[in-house]
Amino acid sequence: MDMHVCRACRGSAGHLVLDLGEQPACDFFPRSDDPGPDPVYPLQMWLCSSCGLAQLLADPTVPEEPRGTEPAALVSQAADAVQRVAAAGWLPEGGVVAEYGSPHGGSWLQLLAARGLIPARSGGQADVIIDCFGMMHAADQREALAERAARIAPGGVLLLQYHALSTIIGCRQWNALRHGHYAYYSTTSLTAMLAAAGFSPRTAWRFELYGGTVLLAATRDGGGHDGPDDAVRSMFAEDAVIGAGDPGTFAGLQHDIQAHARALHGWLAAERSAGKTVMGYGAASRAVALLCHAHVDRILLPAVVDASPAKQGLRMPGTDIPVADPAQLAVRQPDAVLLFVPDLLAEVRDAFPEVEAAGGRWVDAAALGS
Ligand SMILES: [Zn+2]
Repeated sequence: MDMHVCRACRGSAGHLVLDLGEQPACDFFPRSDDPGPDPVYPLQMWLCSSCGLAQLLADPTVPEEPRGTEPAALVSQAADAVQRVAAAGWLPEGGVVAEYGSPHGGSWLQLLAARGLIPARSGGQADVIIDCFGMMHAADQREALAERAARIAPGGVLLLQYHALSTIIGCRQWNALRHGHYAYYSTTSLTAMLAAAGFSPRTAWRFELYGGTVLLAATRDGGGHDGPDDAVRSMFAEDAVIGAGDPGTFAGLQHDIQAHARALHGWLAAERSAGKTVMGYGAASRAVALLCHAHVDRILLPAVVDASPAKQGLRMPGTDIPVADPAQLAVRQPDAVLLFVPDLLAEVRDAFPEVEAAGGRWVDAAALGS
C-alpha cells in the first residue's frame, strides 16, 4: 500500500486504529432484484500522530447516496443551535452568511435569514460561515478548511458542527466510520487544523444529536481576542480523558465490532426462534455496517423501513434485505422494530403509533450487546 499522508497536516506518521474489513459502499443501494454480490472496499480509520486527526484511510467509492428525508431531530437541533449561537452574539443582524452543507441534506440558511442574515454571493466573503457536517465529506481536509477560512471577512466567525470523536469512542459507535466521511474530529484535532489556517476556537456548544455533537465557533488569530473559553477547554479535557489522540484507545472500539455484531445476530435469531416478527427502521450507513458484520439476511430481518422515497424498491448494500415503505409497519405489525438511528426514537414513536398499539416495541440496535 502507498504511504498515507494526513488529510490535514500532510504528516505520514500514524496508526491504523479501526479496521472494518471489506465493506460494500454504504451509500449505494442496489435494486432489490439485483442479486449481488456487491463490490466491497477496505474501510479503515487512521489516526495522525502529528495533528491527531482521525480519518478515513482510503476511499475508492463514489458517493451516490439517495438523499434521505431530513429527520425532525436534525431540524430541531438546527433551530436550537441557531438560537444558542444568536443568544451568544455571534449572528450580527445584516451580516452576510455562507453555508457549507452536508450532501445528506439540511440547511440553516432559512433560520439565519429569519435572524436578518443575508446570503453571500457564490464564493464571496461572509461574516458568518456555517459548516454543518459539511467538511467531513472533503477528502482534502487542509484544502477544505483553507477554502472556508479564506472567505471569512475581517472580524467574522467560522461555525463548524461535527459529531465528536469523543462520542464515537465513548458511545462505542464504531459504525460511524463510513466511506465518504473522511474526517472524525476531536475538538483537539480540529483546533490543530484551525491553527494551521490561522484560526482559533473561541467557544463551543454541545448537543445530544448522534449521542454528542459539537458546534465550535472559531475566529482569525491576531484580533486581540480572548482564547478558548471554558466550554472549549472542557472539550479538550474530555478528549484527553477519553484518549481521543491515543491509538490505544481505539482497541476497545475495534473489539466492540464483533461483540455488537454477535449480540445483534443472537438477538434476531432468538426473536425468530420465538416466532416473533422483527423489522428494521432507518436505512442509514451505520445500519449497513452493522448488518454486514452481523451477517444478517432477510430471513432474520425481512425488511428495513425507511421514510425516504428514493430508497424504495432498493435493498440494503451487502445483504438481501429490502428497504420497505413505512406503511409496511401497519401491514406487518412487527413484534419489534429495530431502530438503527436512535435519534429518531421520539419522532418514530409519534409518527407510527400503530407499532405500539399492536403490541410491538422499538428496540435500539446500538444498545444490543452493550
Ligand atoms: Zn495530521
